[in-house]
Amino acid sequence: MTGASELSYEVIVIGAGVAGIYQIKRLVDLGARATVLEAAGDLGGTWYNNRYPGSRFDSESYTYGYSFSKELLDEWHWKEKFSGQPENLRYLNHVVDKFGLREHMQFNCRVEAAHFDEANNLWRLKVSDGRELTCRFVILTLGLLSIPTLPRIEGMDDFTGRSFHTFDWPREPVPLAGKKVGIIGTGATAIQVIGEIADKVGALTVFQRRPNWCAPLNNSRISEAEMADIRSRYDEIFATCARTPGGFEHEPDRRGFHEVPREERLAMWDRLYDEPGFGIWLGNFREIFTDEEANAEFSDYIADRIRQRVDDPAVAEKLIPRDHGFGVQRVPLETNYLEAYNRDNVRLVDINETPIERVTETGIRTSEQDYDFDIIVYATGFDAITGAHDHIDIRGVGGERLRDRWRDSPSTFLGMFVHGFPNLLMPNGPQSGSASTNYPRGIEIGVNWCTELLEHMWARGITRAEATRAAEDRWTAHVTKMYSRMLMRKAKSWFTGYNSNVEGHEAGKVRYFVYNGGTPKYVAVINEVAEAGYEGLVLTKGPAAGLEKPAAADRVAG
Ligand SMILES: Cc1cc2nc3c(=O)[nH]c(=O)nc-3n(C[C@H](O)[C@H](O)[C@H](O)COP(=O)(O)OP(=O)(O)OC[C@H]3O[C@@H](n4cnc5c(N)ncnc54)[C@H](O)[C@@H]3O)c2cc1C
Repeated sequence: MTGASELSYEVIVIGAGVAGIYQIKRLVDLGARATVLEAAGDLGGTWYNNRYPGSRFDSESYTYGYSFSKELLDEWHWKEKFSGQPENLRYLNHVVDKFGLREHMQFNCRVEAAHFDEANNLWRLKVSDGRELTCRFVILTLGLLSIPTLPRIEGMDDFTGRSFHTFDWPREPVPLAGKKVGIIGTGATAIQVIGEIADKVGALTVFQRRPNWCAPLNNSRISEAEMADIRSRYDEIFATCARTPGGFEHEPDRRGFHEVPREERLAMWDRLYDEPGFGIWLGNFREIFTDEEANAEFSDYIADRIRQRVDDPAVAEKLIPRDHGFGVQRVPLETNYLEAYNRDNVRLVDINETPIERVTETGIRTSEQDYDFDIIVYATGFDAITGAHDHIDIRGVGGERLRDRWRDSPSTFLGMFVHGFPNLLMPNGPQSGSASTNYPRGIEIGVNWCTELLEHMWARGITRAEATRAAEDRWTAHVTKMYSRMLMRKAKSWFTGYNSNVEGHEAGKVRYFVYNGGTPKYVAVINEVAEAGYEGLVLTKGPAAGLEKPAAADRVAG
């Protein structure tokens, strides 16, 4: 039997993005013997990888940053309201260095398998560097958009120019001046890239299958004086984020859509359209998300905005989504996106009319013509929410595979536990409070909750936590039921598990990926669970493979 002293670590955290960084901070503070295993060559997750031009926040920078350290809040100056990838990565590195976390991280370590050893009550991990590690607890902070998906088009390897997925945009600058660039996709990433590079390339051809609704980001610089003001209001800002469903500063208009006269609705939308950020989506009437009529009226309003900004009426019509209403999936925010189509060097190809037949040595062939390119950019999104989980061979009690359990849709308790997979924690897992919100706000909530559970267990000599089947069923039914009220369920989007490039996800069968109750309700539920002694979890001393109690656990126990 493997005793605690023989465990490689008490806790292994997988993933060094925003979530993994905060999780290891909490564990290090407790004195737990813990490490982070990260597949990439360095920390940062989303902000380490997505280096494409235009990659930036759509959360207000100062609501995205961590809230846990006043010193950190006081010293960091966000330079832009919606800051770009290079600064975001600098910020995460600053946090890690400031709190001495780098020594608790191991890079180029992809976890390939995690098997629960029932007899010894521990997890056995297989790492890409050949090691096998053991630990009592595994914490998954794998990211919800960390597995990029390429399209399945014949001939992709034949292309002799440069081609890459936006997630893998090269680290060294890619010369764009004078280049003929083709981009496949018109989702959130493409919308950022196109707006940024249209005036820098020789020619840009956009291959669109389904247009997305989008709205202006309205970004701006943050001066020293403005930053000083933000610093003085941080408590208030985070209190607002905690109060709003989306974890942002934007609060829904709680008046009834149909009770507000149409002229007033239009005036409000005109104002929101010119404001920065998600106000147009999250500061809108709540019926936009649930009421077909309200949603259709607002979608018509945004369609008119597209017609006003795009010169060629035929192109404008192609850019207006017909298969879903505004806001039923996360809304891409743009800068100069629609105006890009007014440029002579930008062309929109509707691949419903002229399908892509193959990639050739020199470019892309559609049913209509051959296009020659120097660069092809695949802005084709991610195997979202459950993809990174599916990529690890995770096996629980009796060797059951998580991938099999979640084949049709995930099922979880609070988005943090799965029955049959003891001591596997997901602070921001599928169906948790993070996935449909301002992520770092949800991440801090989830990490704090999971860490407090571990403290509770360590203080009492408990070595095994497992969700009951009944608790998992109840939570999953709750998440599922919430979808039935949301127009979102009708959209083919990453919130419903649709991805034509992921096997099994092409059909558009709804997967219940995100909790739609909003931050305050989620927090109320998880707090109630904790206050009731972690009702829904079975906490036992386990077939104790010894107990490793971090120094700080005594303080908690006292
Ligand atoms: C371009 C882009 C812009 C975004 N903008 C915003 C925004 O403005 N606001 C917002 O709230 N959210 C935004 N998001 C969502 C974003 O993913 C979250 O904000 C946040 O970065 C998630 O952090 P995370 O730590 O959960 O995941 P990630 O940052 O994805 O980190 C997960 C890490 O886990 C690692 N990993 C995965 N599998 C393994 C394995 N098997 N072994 C070892 N390591 C593994 C990955 O390599 C990765 O480094 C954006 C996402 C993208 C892609």
